[in-house]
Amino acid sequence: MPELAEVEIVRRNLEKWWTSSALEVRWLDSRFGKKDQDRIDLALKSKPLRFLRRGKHLVIQTQKGGIYFHLRMTGKIVKRETWDIKFARLAFKLSKNNWLLFIDTRRLGSVDFLEGESLPRQFEDLGPEPEAVSVAYFNERIGKKKGLKSALLDQKIVAGLGNIAITELFWIYKISPQAKWGDLDEAQKEELCAGLAPYFDALIEKEEGDEIAYTNEPGASNPFLIYKRLGEPCPQCSVAIERMKVASRSTYFCPSCQASDLKK
Ligand SMILES: [Zn+2]
Repeated sequence: MPELAEVEIVRRNLEKWWTSSALEVRWLDSRFGKKDQDRIDLALKSKPLRFLRRGKHLVIQTQKGGIYFHLRMTGKIVKRETWDIKFARLAFKLSKNNWLLFIDTRRLGSVDFLEGESLPRQFEDLGPEPEAVSVAYFNERIGKKKGLKSALLDQKIVAGLGNIAITELFWIYKISPQAKWGDLDEAQKEELCAGLAPYFDALIEKEEGDEIAYTNEPGASNPFLIYKRLGEPCPQCSVAIERMKVASRSTYFCPSCQASDLKK
């Protein structure tokens, strides 16, 4: 599932590839409703102006309105020589043998039209980006007793984090998967806040390429330190990585490095 880093990589790729208006647009999935297809076609066939990301959301503004891509679980935008590719749902041609495709194996993603330079209503509720949070802000928004993981998953508190980032960050800063914000000492709070944006910057740098990968795809490599590494040795202490449900999400952790307050 895409989090901030994957959506930012898609945004950067689009900015690099999509410099002119589309010559041809093909809707390839009948499950896409007809709603707004004509207006999206017109926008795709006009000049793109801005490529915006906010949290996990992606908006392309053009001379003829905006296009809001929801990648949801498995969506991605890739460059191909033809539109005729498995799981392609929308394709637009930029030049000879040069197509951009919205592919989506689980078909949960969507594409919406935005009037003029308007932004999706989802943006109104989003919390700040990771680089803009502080301990004082979290003290106010999370409170001592709330589970930290569920708070960080809440896009209204901070935008762009997901299960994978939180799993990795908790391991990096030796935070128990079940910790509450009030369980952290001041140094941990400072470290975690200061570490959010650099975590994504490093992941973007490592994973940047023509196609984002999801770890649940066949043959995909796993770029993460402990996410989906059940039973493998902790990179820090070699104890086997364990898994538990926290905030209804599968959470990987090192029972030694992240030992505080574990209730099994
Ligand atoms: Zn460990």
